[in-house]
Amino acid sequence: MKALVMGGGMAGLATAINLLDLGIEVELIEADEIFGGRASSWLDEDGDMIDNALHVFFPYYVNLINFFKKMGIYENIVWKSTDFYYAMDNGEQAVMRFANLPAPFHAAAAFLSLFRAYKGIPKWKMLFTAASLGSAVLFSKEKIESLDNMTLAQYNARRGPHDAMKPLEPGINGLTFTPSWMISAKVMVNWFKKVGASYETSRVGFANGGLGDIWVGSCLDYIHSKGGKTELKKAVTSINVEGNKVKSVTVNGSEERTADLYVSTMSPYSLRRVLPPQSFYFEYFRDLMHFTYAPSLSLQVWFDRKLTDVDVTFFSNDCIFNTYADLSNVLPHIFKGGTMFEMVLSPADHIEGLPDEVIFDIAINDIKRLFPEAREAEVRKWKVVRERQGVYRAYPGMEKHRPFQRSPYENFYLAGDYTKTHVSSGGMEAAIWTSNKCAELIAQDKLGKTIVLNEEFNADRGFTPVIKVANRVAPFLVGGLVLRGLARRALGKSKD
Ligand SMILES: Cc1cc2nc3c(=O)[nH]c(=O)nc-3n(C[C@H](O)[C@H](O)[C@H](O)COP(=O)(O)OP(=O)(O)OC[C@H]3O[C@@H](n4cnc5c(N)ncnc54)[C@H](O)[C@@H]3O)c2cc1C
Repeated sequence: MKALVMGGGMAGLATAINLLDLGIEVELIEADEIFGGRASSWLDEDGDMIDNALHVFFPYYVNLINFFKKMGIYENIVWKSTDFYYAMDNGEQAVMRFANLPAPFHAAAAFLSLFRAYKGIPKWKMLFTAASLGSAVLFSKEKIESLDNMTLAQYNARRGPHDAMKPLEPGINGLTFTPSWMISAKVMVNWFKKVGASYETSRVGFANGGLGDIWVGSCLDYIHSKGGKTELKKAVTSINVEGNKVKSVTVNGSEERTADLYVSTMSPYSLRRVLPPQSFYFEYFRDLMHFTYAPSLSLQVWFDRKLTDVDVTFFSNDCIFNTYADLSNVLPHIFKGGTMFEMVLSPADHIEGLPDEVIFDIAINDIKRLFPEAREAEVRKWKVVRERQGVYRAYPGMEKHRPFQRSPYENFYLAGDYTKTHVSSGGMEAAIWTSNKCAELIAQDKLGKTIVLNEEFNADRGFTPVIKVANRVAPFLVGGLVLRGLARRALGKSKD
């Protein structure tokens, strides 16, 4: 049995590996000049490493971690401490430091550390930030699902002043490239719940090198060692359907490719362009029309000196960038010398049309405002990376449009971070999870085998379940006590 995998990003390479492990012959075609898709990197004309964008890993990426372990590349993720720094004007900094305590006390300590020094909003408003997040941690799965019908801003408006979530905005923008008035509340509440679940789960991991370097080569070696074939610069230009099956795929406008099974790991935007018109009589394929991407830009700036010694993520409010890191501290063995900031610029809707030099000028002014040492420093080099696709924009209601991996065509499957998964928006864990799910379905449908590749994320939740029960019981206890008091008073009065 032969499979044609379309797209050579993380989902494509992982799918190829899963299918080869099932004994299926694999041919993989990628439109670009390099493999890795959005999780890629390359060297520029000076030999400096350019990432498609700063990518971070979280401990709840259990399936990605399993995949990296299987490929023998787990050591290529560098896990850092559970600190998130906030850079504010004139060198002032606040830190959200998760403590090594059972949940939820680890998060309470993190909030207190931020509360002391963060100046973005008045302290009384930060109490609403804490209350809003605290209640999110106690939500059930069903409750979180129901939050897909409102934006995060609507969710917040019910719980406090409109800017109470300002301390979390950089994280929201850095992760979803989408402002809180557009993003589904479910996406962010789910994320807070997973990352904030315990001390261990609030760590952040970085690629130990170029983003693509840490995983692409090993995956290609594995694929080739098992007889799989991979080709670059082969763009799918049409998917040809006969009856209820894909008959062939046209590549670069003229080459015909055939296989027994076809797996698309291309973006929803590419896929809907190459499907034949009759596909859209299926609601399944019409759902692809709901997807739009969140624009995002990335900026790398090399300085002649150190501006900071922080080796974890920085957040900043009210800047053109929001989430960034000084890679000379994160990876000192690779980025020697002065600071090299790798910065996520998002939401980028209003800046993607600007020329690179204007973007850089705005960014450098912001950097000088936050890091006084930058005012004297020389910028050795800078680079704006323009992401072609970004992640899909997780508006409220999008969850129901994410396609399941088994399509209505009997030999056609989908994988990719936008397809249906437990991760409530795109991301690398979603790319791996969907590739595993796709292989599980193919094993079942075509080989009559039941295999389980995906694992569920389970955090040590410490005292959180106890607090959840207490939270449920407390209103009844208080109500009971009040009623008892009222009854006693009434009885006392009637005796008088
Ligand atoms: C700026 C930015 C920052 C991010 N940060 C993070 C992060 O911190 N953490 C995280 O987990 N995730 C992050 N992500 C998301 C992460 O990069 C993706 O979730 C992941 O790489 C998706 O992999 P994929 O294989 O599903 O899709 P892709 O990587 O997009 O792969 C799809 C592939 O299909 C190819 N293709 C498209 N059309 C055709 C065609 N017609 N024919 C053949 N091939 C085609 C494309 O060239 C591409 O290689 C970020 C993404 C961006 C853009």
